[in-house]
Amino acid sequence: MSERSIERLRKIEEIYRNNVELVSRIRELSKKLLEELKRRKKITKIRIMNFCGTHEWTTVYYGIRSIVPPEIELVAGPGCPVCITPSYYVEKCIELAFEGFRIYTYGDTYRVPTVKRINGVRSLEEAKASGCDVVVVYSFLEAIQHFKNNPKDSIFLGIGFETIAPAYAQMFLNNKVPEKLYFLSVVRLTPPAAEYSIEACKSKLLEVYGEEPAFGVIAPGHVSTITGGEAWSFLSEKYRIPVVVSGFEPVDVLLSICEILRQLLKGEAKTVIEYVRAVTWRGNIYAREIMNRVFDVKKSAWRGIGIIPRSGLYLKDMYERWDAYKQLGIEDLDESKWVKDTPPGCRCGEIMLGLAYPTDCKHFLKSCTPSRPLGPCMVSSEGTCSIWARYGSTILINELAKELGL
Ligand code: SF4
Repeated sequence: MSERSIERLRKIEEIYRNNVELVSRIRELSKKLLEELKRRKKITKIRIMNFCGTHEWTTVYYGIRSIVPPEIELVAGPGCPVCITPSYYVEKCIELAFEGFRIYTYGDTYRVPTVKRINGVRSLEEAKASGCDVVVVYSFLEAIQHFKNNPKDSIFLGIGFETIAPAYAQMFLNNKVPEKLYFLSVVRLTPPAAEYSIEACKSKLLEVYGEEPAFGVIAPGHVSTITGGEAWSFLSEKYRIPVVVSGFEPVDVLLSICEILRQLLKGEAKTVIEYVRAVTWRGNIYAREIMNRVFDVKKSAWRGIGIIPRSGLYLKDMYERWDAYKQLGIEDLDESKWVKDTPPGCRCGEIMLGLAYPTDCKHFLKSCTPSRPLGPCMVSSEGTCSIWARYGSTILINELAKELGL
């Protein structure tokens, strides 16, 4: 990208980030739309779910829940790859680290606590402190480069969503992955999880309130650069839900909320792209093609949630010599092996399905904090509990005021 284009993009981001006047206009608009919805459609409760940790970050950091009317409930879905990585795969890596394998991992997965203790430890970080060979990397490429200078039987713990999968695929297609560097694929696909969450959320709300609120979805901007906006259109077509692929600045999120309200008012259910400066309808066709050449799509396990059909990417047979499942005899999780893998009292599973808020958990900011996480959502900068703990002071003050009847 040229210097001029970068400068142009920077200016656009600035407008979306710091435009107080625009924020107040959108706020007024959301209020008016809501009044009309109440008057004309008798809709009094609207639930808008996001599927990206960065959208939750924007929502909390910029206080968007306090900007929009309280009838609009903003909830987070399973949008953090570290949070949804089942404890089982980290436990397997710890076991293999104690057997002498080197483990390559990202910084967040390094800290994520497991449910079971393996040789007395509950994370890759603790395994390293016990003398295991665990190396933190920023990318698969960095792991490959490190391995070439220090060859030894190793495992790369390959987590992530559609955003990272093409980078993994490219390494295999370019023959860059050395022998004995095994890839443990825990790559997950977001649209199937979105569908699962919407179903779970709808049936739970029906059970609790006897009626479903109106729904809207803020679809993830980063993932959609690869999948395109079209990946989300099934939500509009099958469930009649307005979907907006949104950017990450406060104005992006507010505009997306207004578009959802507008569609509800007009009785529409469309998938639209607000984040037009980065996302197209068809996405990155090349990236999707190389993913399809390297990976098969199968059912897969999500931490705290369960098994979701067609939601995981696994290396195709032609790449089996790098496949940690096949070469190291790691059994994958299925319905018969999956058990709820969050610590007692931890409500991450419900939080990731939009059925609870972090403040509903008895451990929140007591026995679970960003510096001493108990559950997976408290680890990564994209985890809902971690975001609320770090930036949610307004939410916490409101909760306290409610508790004290103020
Ligand atoms: Fe889990 Fe901690 Fe969040 Fe509670 S506060 S739901 S224990 S991550």
